[in-house]
Amino acid sequence: MNESTLQVSLPQELPITAESDVIVVGGGPGGIGAAIAAAREGAGVLLIEHYGFLGGMATAGEVNPFMPNHVNGESLDQGIFEEWLDRMRVYNGVRGTSRVFDPNAARLAAEDLCIEAGVDLLYHHRAVHVETDDRHIQGVVLHSKGGLTVARAKQYVDSTGDGDLAALAGCAFEYGSEDSGHAQPMTLCFKLKLDPADLPEGGGEKDLYSTLRSDMGRVQEVYKKAQADGRIECLRENVLIFRGVDARVVHFNTTRVIHRAGIKGAELSAAEIEGRRQLRQIVEVLRAEVPIFRNAKLHSIAPQIGVRESRRILGRAYVTLDDYRAGRRFADGIERVNYPVDIHNPDGTGTTFLDMPKNIWYEIPFGCLVPRDIDNLAIGSRCISVDHGVHSSVRVMPPVCSLGQAAGTAVAMAVAGGVDVAAVDGLEVRRRLIRQGRNLPPFDPENPLTNPGAQSDRIGKAGSLSA
Ligand SMILES: Cc1cc2nc3c(=O)[nH]c(=O)nc-3n(C[C@H](O)[C@H](O)[C@H](O)COP(=O)(O)OP(=O)(O)OC[C@H]3O[C@@H](n4cnc5c(N)ncnc54)[C@H](O)[C@@H]3O)c2cc1C
Repeated sequence: MNESTLQVSLPQELPITAESDVIVVGGGPGGIGAAIAAAREGAGVLLIEHYGFLGGMATAGEVNPFMPNHVNGESLDQGIFEEWLDRMRVYNGVRGTSRVFDPNAARLAAEDLCIEAGVDLLYHHRAVHVETDDRHIQGVVLHSKGGLTVARAKQYVDSTGDGDLAALAGCAFEYGSEDSGHAQPMTLCFKLKLDPADLPEGGGEKDLYSTLRSDMGRVQEVYKKAQADGRIECLRENVLIFRGVDARVVHFNTTRVIHRAGIKGAELSAAEIEGRRQLRQIVEVLRAEVPIFRNAKLHSIAPQIGVRESRRILGRAYVTLDDYRAGRRFADGIERVNYPVDIHNPDGTGTTFLDMPKNIWYEIPFGCLVPRDIDNLAIGSRCISVDHGVHSSVRVMPPVCSLGQAAGTAVAMAVAGGVDVAAVDGLEVRRRLIRQGRNLPPFDPENPLTNPGAQSDRIGKAGSLSA
């Protein structure tokens, strides 16, 4: 390792180029929920995003589809998430009544909703430093093509996925699995477009994906054999695919890059190269050995590798796998989650999937969004205060968007009340969310568990639903 250093002469003073009631850093599912909610609650909102578009992993990571988060068939994410999905339909960007979406439509729909809510968008800026004073963020240093500038607000939301803002402000965090210390692996997503010329005799274009599905046994056999003889160097146990909005397009969530940290620049760079190396190998083998892929073309490669897990910012509350198993509810619960524990092995092959019955949920209390160490910051992102197992469940996009909605609502309430978000009452946040149309049922202190006594530890099969 190179330990040498260079004395640098970075400026001691920087221009303040933006001021707002609320700054949300990161425009993924969490940031979209946070910015829209805060603006609708009357706060001036600046949303700062590193890319030139919104969506985070939904667009820059091209992950797909939105995973289900339902109880008895009802979406637990009525609110900004469902609005976002609905708006994608305007762009023909959703397949039927499913949750398969087009990332281009996701970008447009998110931007529409933000602009309509009055959110100011600042693209191509990355938060690189935070000035703090005791337990307060005083300003965020941004880097862009124009150099370094400062943006200031009364209250802040960290929606960076990785908890960048909180970490830069000195908040305590956890990282990865409690056992190995490694986070879930990264995956570079890509899409192939099937060619009707590869259909068996008599098949129509519509049958392309079903033909592929009916031949998945062969796909897995070919993949495993190529893994065994070293032609595919990917540790994932099988080929995980999803249908695209277009029936000819197949989405691959298959590459697996382990032991690289998404919060270390050089490791992230190496992971991109490793992900594309695996992609080349997978595509070459499938084209050569599975007839339905013979003439398939590369449709898209995600602009960046997908980072499933990194920091988890420690908050006033902390939800664990025991809470998940018990289906625990909280008086200040601001999100209900039914999506199961879904841990892609941080150290190699395999996926742990912990069954969650269809009629129960666990809740995330407001305290998981309030960092212990800074008072004018809320977390509106996947990186909340939960353990490794619960993170693997709550991280999927619908609940993350709802967590963002809660964080944005809370910071707007803080601005309106002239206090910090740490002083906002979680019970009030829950009430406000219900008024916004979030489907959170009344809390029953006599029954704090949704599945009393169930305590199921059944290991399920990831099947086709792993994220
Ligand atoms: C490979 C993979 C597959 C997945 N599959 C699914 C799936 O099928 N279905 C599902 O529902 N979920 C899936 N997920 C989970 C889900 O995509 C993420 O957990 C979710 O997007 C997290 O949302 P977020 O808003 O917290 O963060 P992100 O989506 O990561 O968004 C963070 C945003 O912040 C920006 N940003 C980061 N740092 C800074 C900074 N310092 N300054 C400025 N901007 C910054 C980023 O550019 C990005 O736009 C998958 C995740 C991965 C990695």
